[in-house]
Amino acid sequence: MSETVIQPGTVWLVGAGPGDPELLTRKAEKLIRAASIIFYDALVGKGVLALAPPSAKLVPVGKRSGRHSKDQRSINDFLVDAALAGERVVRLKGGDVGIFGRAAEEVDALAENGIAVHICPGITAASAAAASAGISLTLRGLARKLVFVTAHAKAGEELDLDWQALADPKATLAIYMGKAAAATISRELKDAGLPGDTPVLLIENASLPDERLFRTRLDLLALSAQAALEDGPALMLIGESVRQHQRVNDLSFSFAIPPRKRGPFCH
Ligand code: SAH
Repeated sequence: MSETVIQPGTVWLVGAGPGDPELLTRKAEKLIRAASIIFYDALVGKGVLALAPPSAKLVPVGKRSGRHSKDQRSINDFLVDAALAGERVVRLKGGDVGIFGRAAEEVDALAENGIAVHICPGITAASAAAASAGISLTLRGLARKLVFVTAHAKAGEELDLDWQALADPKATLAIYMGKAAAATISRELKDAGLPGDTPVLLIENASLPDERLFRTRLDLLALSAQAALEDGPALMLIGESVRQHQRVNDLSFSFAIPPRKRGPFCH
């Protein structure tokens, strides 16, 4: 195992995990402590940032802090400039660096400028969500395939996914950035043949103190997402593997009984 140090003028892309600082890798923690400047996304947990040394400059570059993804080029430029200035640069990304994190663009921009770049992996939201729900993302014989998919569409564009391929009853779908597209996901997967009673788990703020989990079903997904989710990051897990949930509330049940008798959504 190599010693974790950051050479001045180099960049580490570091997976910050789902939010709970205890879910950081030991390597990520060492890198954060060794950085002279840290560029971080909006989803990086406060507890993770608290590990940075007081001398390190902390620079927010996330969409939720008012930036848009078209600013990716500015982020690339920040990284290049900081490295060329001899900083020990950490680029902190929520979850795993290589999953819906636009890492490739940053790696390319750095490489084009002759800057050495390394990657430290992190725990992705799907793993954290499954752990919180007490389930396995794969199930022998029942869920042989795990699909990571983003339901984020570019502004003004239709969601362009291969619904036939996704509607596989032997797969678990982990849908990132799916909240806004919940109605489309539900309709398209059903149209493509996935049964309406396919179990779904919605997990908001996985691993954080305000984590919330809800169980629902594919045909109630739009209603459930609208009723249950607030403005935290949320993941959808869809498929038979979700049936074995233990610690979640049942929205399909809540919707099936009169509102007056509904229990609280959160645990
Ligand atoms: N690289 C990240 C994903 C970035 S895309 C990873 O590997 O997890 C951002 C999306 O990830 C959010 O919209 C949400 O769908 C999901 N996500 C990230 N953190 C989450 C969390 N703590 N709980 C639930 N979903 C989360």
